[in-house]
Amino acid sequence: MDAKCPKCNNVSSVPDNWQGKQGKCKKCGTAFQIPAKKQGPLPGETIVSVFYVVGGLLLFTSFICLFLAFVTLATETTSNGAVVPATTCLFIGISFGLTSVLPFGLAAIIQAINANTRQKH
Ligand SMILES: [Zn+2]
Repeated sequence: MDAKCPKCNNVSSVPDNWQGKQGKCKKCGTAFQIPAKKQGPLPGETIVSVFYVVGGLLLFTSFICLFLAFVTLATETTSNGAVVPATTCLFIGISFGLTSVLPFGLAAIIQAINANTRQKH
């Protein structure tokens, strides 16, 4: 990264881990603090949070449905009326649970790419 001397405006290249530390201008010898580089949010980070919310909602709905399915199946196995909602709940629960893997997986991939991008700067 580059550090700019506040006195003579001479730009010198310093190692990245010098951020926030005291440096000395090579040209005029003025001691100054090397600014810490600001890290703004990467474009993928908003998408990651959206994916986590979507994945979380799917997983939550999945658990509710599976819970309802098992409760219905356990308490009213003899009643024909209870079998239909139980099967529907079971189906929704399993499919939502499987679908939630997708946003979570995508979020993990984007985060891995972001971590990689951050290390390069
Ligand atoms: Zn200087």
